[in-house]
Amino acid sequence: MPFPLSNSSSSAPAYVVAIIGGGCAGTLVASQLLRQAWGPARILVIERGAAIGRGVAYGTDFNEHRLNVPAARMSALPEDPKHFLNWARERVKHLGFPDTVDGNDFLPRWMYGRYLEFVLEESKGLAPPDVVLEIVHGEAVDLAETPAGKTITLADGRILVVSAVVLALGLLPGEYPIRRPLPVYHSPRYLHSPLLPTALSGVEKQDDILIVGAGLTAVDIILQCRLLGHRGVIHALSRRGIKPVAHSASPAEPYPAFLRADALPVTVHAAMTLIRAELASAAARGIDWRPVLDSIRPVSAALWEGFSWAERARFLRHVRPFWEAHRHRIAPATAAIIASVQQEGRLKFHAGRLISLRESAGRVAAVLKVRGEERFEALSVAKVINCTGPRSDYSKYQHPLLVNLLAAGLIGHDPLALGIDALPTGQVLRYGTRTPVAGLFTLGATLKGVLWESTAVPEIRVQARQLAEYLCSESS
Ligand SMILES: Cc1cc2nc3c(=O)[nH]c(=O)nc-3n(C[C@H](O)[C@H](O)[C@H](O)COP(=O)(O)OP(=O)(O)OC[C@H]3O[C@@H](n4cnc5c(N)ncnc54)[C@H](O)[C@@H]3O)c2cc1C
Repeated sequence: MPFPLSNSSSSAPAYVVAIIGGGCAGTLVASQLLRQAWGPARILVIERGAAIGRGVAYGTDFNEHRLNVPAARMSALPEDPKHFLNWARERVKHLGFPDTVDGNDFLPRWMYGRYLEFVLEESKGLAPPDVVLEIVHGEAVDLAETPAGKTITLADGRILVVSAVVLALGLLPGEYPIRRPLPVYHSPRYLHSPLLPTALSGVEKQDDILIVGAGLTAVDIILQCRLLGHRGVIHALSRRGIKPVAHSASPAEPYPAFLRADALPVTVHAAMTLIRAELASAAARGIDWRPVLDSIRPVSAALWEGFSWAERARFLRHVRPFWEAHRHRIAPATAAIIASVQQEGRLKFHAGRLISLRESAGRVAAVLKVRGEERFEALSVAKVINCTGPRSDYSKYQHPLLVNLLAAGLIGHDPLALGIDALPTGQVLRYGTRTPVAGLFTLGATLKGVLWESTAVPEIRVQARQLAEYLCSESS
C-alpha cells in the first residue's frame, strides 16, 4: 500500500519517510520528495558516513577520476535533462572547474559529488515550509513493522519511528580474492575496500603492487598511482584478462533501436545472436560497435525481465564479464593515461586465477594460475589491492540491517541473490509470500536482480523520481 506523503490539510500530522543511505540514490529520492511533496512531511536521510550526496563513487578528490558517462547524460533530474550540464557551465573558470564544458565531456567525479549536494540544497529551497529534510548521522541496524509504520534502530541505540522506509544501501563491498580466511587479509599490505584516498598508503614509489580485478575500480587505482608519482610495476589480474574498454573519442550518432520492445528474445542465446548479427552488420557499414550496444539500453530492463531466472544465471556465467566491460566504458582521456602507463612498462595485465597470497619479510608473495595454460606465475609485491568489484551475492553478506531484515522475513533475495526481491517499481516483497511489504521500498544496486541495469545515474534518477511520485500519489 502506498502511503500519503502529504495532505491538503496543513494541520494533519506529518508523514515521515526514512531513507537509509545518503549516497547518490538516497540523495535523489530525498530531492524528488522535496520537490514533489506539498506537506506536511519529514524526510529523514540516515547515513553512516560523514558526507551526504557523494557516496562511494563521487567522494573522490582526484581530478583524473572521471565520470564514465558524458556530462549531457548525467542530469540528476529526468525532468530536466540539462540540469547537470547547465550547473557545470555556470561554474566554468571557477576554482578547479574547466574553462569550457561541452555535453560530451567526461567531467571529474568530485564535481558530480558537489552537484549532488547542490541538487539537494536546491530541492530544499523549492520545498514548501512544512516539508522538511533532516540528516541523521548513524548506521541503521534494524527495522521492524509496527501498527503505526516502522521503527528503525540505529547502531548507537537511537530508535526512529517512521511511516515508510526507502533502502538506498548502494553496492556491497567486494568478495575476497581467494575465498578462504588468509592471514594476509589482516595485514596493512592487503586492502579490501579500495575506494579510499589512502589506498596506496605504505607503498613506496618504486614498489610493485598487485591489483586483483581490471575493471573501473582498478582503473581508479592505476590513475591514483600515476598521480602520486608511483614508478613501480602495477600488475592487474583478472580471470579472463579483459581490459577496460574506452568510449569513442568522437561522439557517434545514436544507433536506431534494433531490438523491438514488443518482440524481445527470451533466451540469452537468441539475444546474443541478434546482437552479434547487428554488430556485424554495423561493422560492415563502417559503424562503431558502441552506439549499437548503447541502443539496447532503453529495452535492457524489459529484456532482462523477459529472461527466466535460469536464463539470467546463464547470462551471468557466460556474458556478464564482457557485458560489464563494454557497457561501463572509461572516458577517452582515462584510456589514454592507462595506455601510456602500459607503454612505459609500468602496467601489466594478467589473465588467470589467484592461487595463494602470503606475507613475508615485508612483501606479499602471490601465485597465480595463468589462464588456459598449465603454468603458474609468482609475483612479489608490496601491496595487494582488491578491486574485484562489488559483491553480487547478497546472501553471503553480513550487513547488520540486511541480516535483521532477512531474519524478520521482511526481505528476501531474488533467486540469484543479486539483490533484494522486489517489484520493478522498488516495492519490497516479503520473504515467503512475495507480497509487497507496506511502506518498504528500495532502489539502485539492490534492484539488480530485478532490473539488471540499476546502478548508474541514468537508471537511478528515474527510479528516484518514480518512487517519489508513488509515495506522493495517495496524498490528495
Ligand atoms: C567508482 C565508481 C564510479 C562510478 N561512476 C559512475 C559514472 O560516472 N556515471 C554513472 O552513471 N554511474 C557511475 N557509477 C555508478 C553509480 O552512479 C554509483 O554507484 C552511485 O553512486 C550509486 O549510489 P548509491 O546511493 O546507490 O550507492 P552509494 O554511493 O554506495 O551510497 C550508499 C550509501 O548508503 C550508506 N549506507 C549503507 N548502509 C547503511 C546503513 N545501514 N545505515 C546508514 N547508511 C548506510 C553508505 O554509507 C553509502 O553512503 C560509479 C560507481 C562507482 C563505484
